[in-house]
Amino acid sequence: MSLRFYDTSARQVRDFTPLREGCASLYLCGATVQAPPHIGHIRSGVNFDILRRWLTYRGLRVTLCRNVTDIDDKIINVARGEGVAWWEVAERNQRAFTAAYDTLGCLPPTVEPRATGHVPEMIELMRRLIDRGHAYPAADGSGDVYFDVASYPDYGALSNQRPDQMRGAADTDDDRRKRDPRDFALWKGARPGEPSWETPWGRGRPGWHLECSAMSTKYLGSAFDIHGGGLDLVFPHHENEVAQSRAAGDGFAQYWLHNGLLTMGGEKMSKSLGNSLLIPDMVRKVRPVELRYYLAQAHYRSVIDYSDDALAEAAAAFQRVEGFVTRAVEVVGAVEPASRVPDPFAAALDDDLGVSQALAVLHGHVRDGNTALTEGGKERIAELAGQVRAMLAVLGLDPLSDTWAQGADSGLSDVVDSLVAVALEQRQAARARKDYAAADAIRDQLLAAGVVVEDTPRGPRWELRRS
Ligand SMILES: [Zn+2]
Repeated sequence: MSLRFYDTSARQVRDFTPLREGCASLYLCGATVQAPPHIGHIRSGVNFDILRRWLTYRGLRVTLCRNVTDIDDKIINVARGEGVAWWEVAERNQRAFTAAYDTLGCLPPTVEPRATGHVPEMIELMRRLIDRGHAYPAADGSGDVYFDVASYPDYGALSNQRPDQMRGAADTDDDRRKRDPRDFALWKGARPGEPSWETPWGRGRPGWHLECSAMSTKYLGSAFDIHGGGLDLVFPHHENEVAQSRAAGDGFAQYWLHNGLLTMGGEKMSKSLGNSLLIPDMVRKVRPVELRYYLAQAHYRSVIDYSDDALAEAAAAFQRVEGFVTRAVEVVGAVEPASRVPDPFAAALDDDLGVSQALAVLHGHVRDGNTALTEGGKERIAELAGQVRAMLAVLGLDPLSDTWAQGADSGLSDVVDSLVAVALEQRQAARARKDYAAADAIRDQLLAAGVVVEDTPRGPRWELRRS
């Protein structure tokens, strides 16, 4: 195995050597559940789902921990605006995120811890930091607890910043509580009307950075393999996570992988822009599997600038692949995925998860497969279809997998198949008696009902019209 990834911390591609042979532990910063997800949020889920599937294909037992931030200023503000409890907002949006991940075929994480369920672990981590001289409670008794940036010489190493050029952390009600403006809040003292938990330093609630350090090491151990997240999290969130955990004596993440952002018209997704790209709306434009293809096709570290045209192109590209698999099965019968993916495909994914190059290999096989379909050779068709299915499975895009084939496999599909067969027999009969007007009328009626008929050398075939 020669897996390698671009490590943000090292600023270069590094060979991947897991801490424990045969295993890979992966922590992914999940959602702050103040609103339902747009596709920018879910891109990270899709990118890291492919990473997880590839590590699994390479024989590693993957433990994926993806957190949910269920307490935060933004959640409290939304709840206040609606006049409902903070946990009602968090529950509702967590369900929306789960539904979106499921819709896009992301495998569920091994564990999905919520911040508010891990207050004891956070208190313990603060205790360790205070005992080691890396954190302090605010002197005014507000209940705030801060990380002492000056006590940790490596601060800034992950985001490649010099500590003396850093801006202050804007996370306090009163800067006088801090020894240094760059110090960041581990814990936020209770404010009237807000949820709070008891600690030895007063009542308050978790800071965002602290929860990820506490939850990742609880589930993955003091040191783990890969920490993932969006590129916008490198600073301050991940810089603060690594400072907290290393200062407390944990080895923490060995590799840092960051996915690029999804922009619109070159701008970072704002809430108003994002509202037009919510998942339920997107899967009315294209099928979920096509949306997954769209989000997966670019390299995970590149920027995706959203456009309807690019989405439509991605859907068409996926349909070419799907069309080959469908026709191959019609010609040769059931085809199981090959046990191994082709070497160039594997080499592309081994090299910092090069999905775009891997897809080029996939499309090459589809072209060969289509040639085989016109030139006969059932064995060759079956071989190529098996390889294509194996590659698609690794990307979570196999149209015949349980995730995506449910609709096609339902009883309803068989009923439609029988009805269309009756109509096509009548069309053939009309053609046989040279009544082309009647034959065309049948085809048009089928089209109006959403069934596209295509005449092939092997006879007519049909599929449901898309979009
Ligand atoms: Zn995090």
